[in-house]
This record gives sequence, C-alpha cells and structure tokens, in this order.
Amino acid sequence: MSAPRVAVIGCGLTGSFTALILRRALPEASVTVWEKSTNAGRTFTKRTADSSIDMGAQYISQTPEYAEAHKRFYSELLDQGILSPFCGVIEGESRSDKAKNFVAPKGMDSIVNYCVAASGCSVLYNTRLEKLSVADDGMIKMLTLKSENGYVASYNAVVITIPVPQALALDGVLELLDKKPILKKNLECVHYSSRYAVALHFESDFEIPVPWTAKYVCGNDAIRFVCWDSRKRNPQSGGPHSLLVHSSVPFAVEHLEEERAKVEETLIDRVQMLFSWLPKPTWSRCHRWRYSQVKQSYSGIPGYVTIGQSPPLLFGGDGFNHSNFDGCVESAVQIVNALSKMPILSL
Ligand SMILES: Cc1cc2nc3c(=O)[nH]c(=O)nc-3n(C[C@H](O)[C@H](O)[C@H](O)COP(=O)(O)OP(=O)(O)OC[C@H]3O[C@@H](n4cnc5c(N)ncnc54)[C@H](O)[C@@H]3O)c2cc1C
Repeated sequence: MSAPRVAVIGCGLTGSFTALILRRALPEASVTVWEKSTNAGRTFTKRTADSSIDMGAQYISQTPEYAEAHKRFYSELLDQGILSPFCGVIEGESRSDKAKNFVAPKGMDSIVNYCVAASGCSVLYNTRLEKLSVADDGMIKMLTLKSENGYVASYNAVVITIPVPQALALDGVLELLDKKPILKKNLECVHYSSRYAVALHFESDFEIPVPWTAKYVCGNDAIRFVCWDSRKRNPQSGGPHSLLVHSSVPFAVEHLEEERAKVEETLIDRVQMLFSWLPKPTWSRCHRWRYSQVKQSYSGIPGYVTIGQSPPLLFGGDGFNHSNFDGCVESAVQIVNALSKMPILSL
C-alpha cells in the first residue's frame, strides 16, 4: 500500500503542531498543509524592515498541569530558542500564581514556522480551501479538495483546523453533516469573540515612562490590552519602539464592518487619551480579528470531532478546546491520536 496522503487545512498553531506530531508518529505519511495566506494564523507577527510586532497571541501562560502534559514540546521550543521566559512586568494580569509566562523572542509566528520546518511537510501557501467532496474509485474512498484558485488534490485523510464558522461555510461540509444533526448543531454553537489590533512605532530615542511591559486596561470601552513589543522580546534590537494595542471585544463588535483605516484612527486617538505621554506614532497598522478567541467552545471540549471515518475527516483547533497555546497543542495531540487509530493510517 502506498504512503497515506494527509491534508491539514490551516497553518496556525493547531495545524502546524498536527503536522509535526503526525510526521513524528507516522513518518511514512505524506502530509501537506493548505494555508490561505502566508501568515501564521492568530500567531501572526507583522514584520517591517526594522522591526516586528505580534498582532495576535502575545505570550504563553503555562499552567503546572500543561507544563507536565506538554513537557516535551516546551523543552524542545526552549532548547531551540523559540521560547524564552517572559521577564517584564504585566500589570492587571489575572492568573494563577503558579503559571509561568513565555515569549517568542523571534515573534509568535516563529513557533508555527519552527513546527513546519521540523515536520518536513510541505505547505501550500496562498491556497484557500473552497470545496471538499468524497471521491470513490471503487477501491478506496478519498477526500478531494479544491482551492479558490482551481488547484485540486485528493487525500486519504483531511484535518481542518480553521475557525469553526469558516469550516462550516466550506462548500460540501454541510452535505457531509446532513445525517449528523447533533454534531451540526454543536458545531453551530461554537462562537468566537472579535478584536482589533493596532501596531504603533515610535522613535527609538523616546523613553518609555512606565515600568510595565504589558498592561490589561480596566474600565475603558475601547482598549483592553497594550504591550511594548520591543520591550517584551527583543530589548536590544535597536529598532523603533513598538506598542501593540488590542481593542476591547465590545468595541470590535460595534465597529466590525467599519473601514479599517477609520477604526485605526479611532483606536490611536483612544490610546493617546489613555496615555497622554505617548508621542505621535511614526508608523501604524491595524488588523481585524473577526475570529479572535473562543467564547463558546464545542460542547464537552473534546479537542477535535470526527466528521467522517471513511475517509477520515476531522475538525480541530481552539474551537474544540481553549484559545491559547496549550489548547491548540492539546487539540493537535488528540487529532493525531485519533488518526493513528483509523484504518487508513494505522499501518
Ligand atoms: C488578539 C488575540 C490575542 C491572543 N492572545 C493570546 C495569548 O496571549 N496567548 C495565547 O496562548 N493565545 C492567545 N490568543 C489565542 C491564540 O492565538 C489562538 O488560540 C491560536 O492561535 C489558534 O490557533 P489555530 O491554529 O487553532 O487557529 P488559527 O490560528 O486561526 O489558524 C487557522 C489557519 O487557517 C487558515 N485558513 C482559514 N481558512 C482557510 C481555508 N479555507 N483554507 C486554507 N487555510 C485557511 C488561516 O489563515 C489560519 O492561518 C490570542 C488570539 C488573538 C486573536
């Protein structure tokens, strides 16, 4: 029998860890990742000529339970310099005293890039999955995928790691769910919050007058979180000072369909009202996170769900767990455990 062909849809934390763990568990499997953009999903790091700034996930908060359960991943990422301890002050953080925080010194996207490189699998960037269908050549059932730009390929198994509402909108998915009303209903219940992120640069000779690196803002209707990215992970970089601003969820919901440039202007005004000592930024960029963090996970937090057994089609990602690093890694671990037991892959 030839090597099973597996497609992973989405190259964020869940997709890249799935590819890595799967290749290590089943080295003979051929794994291809489809990614609609060239970013690293919600661990997107915006890069300019002289700096970079994390626009989505900011840092990893590791609980003692996950320190143990995901020890091998933490050890590898720390040994490789992909993660390092977060040394700065975080004002207003609500977490257990026993949690440890980590940053990605080269940018949060370096976690995804590391997993992809270490997995040795191929990634089809700028390839948005549009349609999937089951093809039957009489011998073996395959899943045929078609991209927005007409690329077609067939696989023995497919894992979809994109936000659940986007997965449900794929052509062919609702048909596959026709005979599974409870599964469909549970998937429709998965909800995400929305946020805006604004990145600001300031002259490097500006002296930051506060002791904190990151701050959770309370009682402000527009702004929820700010972080000196330049201080967080690369204090010696010598580039411009960069500040990341995350909007509050109610602000994002209210302005979700507004022109991005207008939202950017409003958020810059609001952060300057909040911190009157901020100089005028020399550069800014705004990003809309329509699907930011999971508000309502899939019932029971199973880590993944099986849409079809033959051929295997699985949905995973933070929608089936929690919106953080460990939630995604756990989803990937569980996806690979499930796949390895399925006939086509249990070689
Ligand atoms: C503003 C913000 C702040 C956050 N802060 C933190 C934090 O500090 N710490 C933390 O641990 N977590 C944080 N999170 C949560 C964390 O970023 C997410 O839980 C995690 O990145 C989700 O990873 P994922 O792989 O499941 O999904 P995603 O990262 O969304 O990956 C899905 C990928 O699929 C791609 N895709 C979508 N549709 C298609 C398609 N049709 N075809 C092909 N590809 C497609 C997307 O481009 C994307 O790359 C934050 C998230 C946001 C948005």
